[in-house]
Amino acid sequence: MSIKCTNCQKGITTLKFSDASVITSGKYRVPAVLITLVCPHCSQHYYTEVPAMEFIPCEAKK
Ligand SMILES: [Zn+2]
Repeated sequence: MSIKCTNCQKGITTLKFSDASVITSGKYRVPAVLITLVCPHCSQHYYTEVPAMEFIPCEAKK
C-alpha cells in the first residue's frame, strides 16, 4: 500500500515526521494536533489537523 506524492509523483509508504503542535483547530473549533509530515523523496511538506479526541493511548512502537 502506498500513496503518491502530489509534488514528485513518487510512491510513499512512510512519511518523515516533522512536527506535531497542539493548536485550537480553525476547522473543528476544538483542541487539535497540527501534524506536519514530509515526503522522503522530495521533502514536500504536508499537514493535517487531528482533533485531540481522536487520539487513543497505545504502547510504544518497538
Ligand atoms: Zn515528493
